[in-house]
Amino acid sequence: MTQLHHNLLADLDRAHVLHPWTHFDSFERDGATVITRGEGCHLWDSEGRRYFDAVGGLWCTNIGLGREEMAEAIADQVRTLAFSNTFVDLTNSPSARLAARLAELAPGDLNRVMFTTGGSTAIDSAYRLVQFAQAAMGFEGRTHVIARRDSYHGSTYAAMSIGKRKGDQRPEFTYITDTIHHISAPYIFRPETGEADEDAATDAFVAEFEAKIAEIGAEKIAAFFAEPIQASGGVIVAPKGYMRRMWEVCRRHGILFVADEVVTGFGRLGHWFASEDEFGIVPDVICCAKGLSSGYQPIGAMIFSDRLWEAMAQDEERWFTHGFTYSGHPVACAAALKNIEILEREDLLGNAARIGAYFQARLRELRRLPTVGETRGRALIACVESVADKATMRRFDEGIDIGKRISDICEAKGLMVRPIGHNNIMSPPLILTESDADFIVDTLEAGIREATDALVREGVKIG
Ligand code: PLP
Repeated sequence: MTQLHHNLLADLDRAHVLHPWTHFDSFERDGATVITRGEGCHLWDSEGRRYFDAVGGLWCTNIGLGREEMAEAIADQVRTLAFSNTFVDLTNSPSARLAARLAELAPGDLNRVMFTTGGSTAIDSAYRLVQFAQAAMGFEGRTHVIARRDSYHGSTYAAMSIGKRKGDQRPEFTYITDTIHHISAPYIFRPETGEADEDAATDAFVAEFEAKIAEIGAEKIAAFFAEPIQASGGVIVAPKGYMRRMWEVCRRHGILFVADEVVTGFGRLGHWFASEDEFGIVPDVICCAKGLSSGYQPIGAMIFSDRLWEAMAQDEERWFTHGFTYSGHPVACAAALKNIEILEREDLLGNAARIGAYFQARLRELRRLPTVGETRGRALIACVESVADKATMRRFDEGIDIGKRISDICEAKGLMVRPIGHNNIMSPPLILTESDADFIVDTLEAGIREATDALVREGVKIG
C-alpha cells in the first residue's frame, strides 16, 4: 500500500468514523491504525508492519484468520441463499442445523436457541427472555436482575446497565437502575507466596448475594447474570466453589442463572462451554457470540432450557415479540457451522487446554518483575496486573496509564496486548503454539521492563 493510500484511509476514518470507546482527544490527535490483512495469529497494518495478535481480535478469532475453507463456506452460502429472515414461521438450512449443533454442545436441557447479531444482543435477549419466562411460569413480579460490578455484558442499553465496569457508565448516558442491582466482583488477590483463603472468600461473596436477595425480595428477582470468568473487567477468576454456590443460591430462590459465555464459550478454556465442564453448573440460559464464528461473521446466540420453553409455549396465545432482522442469518450460521467443524477436527479445544497451561505457567514467571502484582487467568484467557508496590498492591496513578504504556511498547515490538486500566489482557487464537506463547511472554516482559525503566527515569516511585 502506498503512503498516499495509507494516509487517505487514515484521514477518511478520522473524518467519519465514531469508534467504539473513542477517546476523543487521542483519536483526534493520532487517528487509528489501519489493519489491512490477517492470517493465523498475525495482522498487518497499512504501512506493512506485522503484529502478533495476542488479543485474538477481541477475544474472538479462535481458529485464526485467513482460513480458505471459511471463505469457501461463506461464499457458497452467499451463492445459495445470501439472506432469508427467520421471523415467525420461516427458517433456513444453516440456521436450523446450527441450532441443533448448539443444542448438542450445550449442557443439560439447553436445547432452544435464539440467534442474535452478537454478544450484546444475546444478553439483551436474555434480559427479555428471563422476564417473559418467569411470567409464563406464573411469577409476573419477577422483573429485577442481579449482576456483578466490574462485569461487562455488552453495549446495548440493557447490557450496559447489567454490566458495571468502572469508567464505562458515563454521566452523559442513562441506565436502568431501578430494577438492575449489583454485588461485588469475586476478585481475590492470590499472593505470590502463601495461599489465599478461597473458601472464606467464597463464603463472603455468597453471603453478600443472599443479603442482596433478601433486600430486594426473592419474589421480585428474575435472574442472576454472570460471566464464568469476568473478562473485560480484568480476567477475574472467582475463588474455588463460587460459581456452584451462587448457582445453588439461585436454584433455592427460583432465580434463573444466565451464564454470559460470550468470551468463555467455544474453546477458550478448553471446552465448548465453561459453565458445566469447568465450573460444574448447568445454567438456565447461556449467551454466546465471538468464538461461535471466530469473528468471521457477526453472530451470537442465546441458548436456553426446554424447561423455560415449555413454560412459555403452554399458552397458545402468548407471543414472544423479540428478534432481529439478522436472527438466523444464513451466511453467519454457515460460517459458525464451519468454524465448529474446524474447532472439532483440529482438536483446538484440546490445544487450548494444553498450550493454555504452558502459557499460564510462563506468564507466572513475570511475577518476579518489580511491577507485576499478579498474573491470572485460565487456559487462553490471561491478564497481567501492574502495581506500583507489590507489598501493598498499590496501583499506579491513573494518569500514568500503565497498561497503555506497556501495550504501546509491545506494539512497537510487533505484539498486540490489550490495555484495560492497569491490566494487560490476552486471549490469543486457539491455534497458539508453545513458541507463540514464548514470543508473547518474552515480548511482554521486555515491554514491562522498558515501561518500568521509563517510569523510574520520570521519578515515579516503585516499591
Ligand atoms: N459479554 C461479554 C462477556 C463480552 O466480553 C462482550 C464483548 O466483549 C459482550 C458480552 C458483548 O459482545 P458484542 O460486543 O459482540 O456485542
